[in-house]
Amino acid sequence: MITHPFTYRAPSTIEEAVAALGRSRDAKVIAGGHSLLPLMKLGLAQPDALVDLRRIASLRDIRAEADGTIVVGALATHRSIAEDRTIVSKLAALAEAAAAVGDPLVRARGTIGGSLAHADPAADEPAPVLAFDALIRAIGSKGKRDIRAGEYFKAAFETALAPDEIVAEIRFPAQTGRTGSAYVKFAHPASRFAVVGVAATVTLKGDGTVERAAIGVTGAADAPFRAAQAEKAITGTKGDAKAIAAAAAKAAEGITTLSDLVASSDYRRHLVTVYARRALERATQRAQG
Ligand SMILES: Cc1cc2nc3c(=O)[nH]c(=O)nc-3n(C[C@H](O)[C@H](O)[C@H](O)COP(=O)(O)OP(=O)(O)OC[C@H]3O[C@@H](n4cnc5c(N)ncnc54)[C@H](O)[C@@H]3O)c2cc1C
Repeated sequence: MITHPFTYRAPSTIEEAVAALGRSRDAKVIAGGHSLLPLMKLGLAQPDALVDLRRIASLRDIRAEADGTIVVGALATHRSIAEDRTIVSKLAALAEAAAAVGDPLVRARGTIGGSLAHADPAADEPAPVLAFDALIRAIGSKGKRDIRAGEYFKAAFETALAPDEIVAEIRFPAQTGRTGSAYVKFAHPASRFAVVGVAATVTLKGDGTVERAAIGVTGAADAPFRAAQAEKAITGTKGDAKAIAAAAAKAAEGITTLSDLVASSDYRRHLVTVYARRALERATQRAQG
């Protein structure tokens, strides 16, 4: 039960939503409600106003722009992302991460914008958002700005968003040449959140060597991260099993991994290397066609 009082508004444009956010001291946006409402029921979040985005239909859109950029609206649900044909064919790691979220109910209501704004360290979609080097487009009282994924996630439940900013869309740059991607995860046995989740993208040159690789890791640390040492190690190799295993072994280098009842810090570190190897293998196979 939610016991504290709050006002409720459901504006029909993002500009009105930004203005509504500014009118209250502790207003919060609500999207799918699958993270915010449980917190409100527990009394852990007590906003004095809720600004519901559900009437802003344009925020649900998933579209490809002329230059190949794929734009996913903040209100796109995990299910709509997992089932979108363009995303399945061009951004497989994102489709796989969305399909791996929770259960069918959560996927039907929860949104990518909500997931990125909430920034649970065990959320799935941050991993492909990092691996694809996406831009998070935020709109606030000072206007619009694009935040690079690498600069967006700050700590557990902490992002680069200002309190009056709303995530409007996530912009995935065009995937050129022979590129493949994949997301794999070790799921929490009850909630299905990622104990460790890894997204990889691999681009191959004409001769089959790895031109570029990007690896986004979630669940392992207090914020999702790019496995920079592993990316460096795989680049320029033939992307064979030995090179992938050697690169994946470096995926947790320099990272302080989390420890909890489900997985110790050492076990999470091990999982990062195992799942980085699997993600790289799958992404490379897809790039090879
Ligand atoms: C049982 C259960 C299992 C789950 N399992 C998983 C899982 O396996 N993997 C996973 O990744 N997630 C999981 N989730 C979380 C789920 O994906 C949530 O839907 C998601 O994290 C939040 O999205 P939402 O649209 O529901 O956001 P809401 O709950 O509406 O909002 C969450 C937070 O984000 C803010 N917010 C929402 N939208 C915006 C926006 N556009 N701009 C700025 N701020 C915004 C809100 O103010 C709030 O602070 C699970 C949730 C439940 C209840």
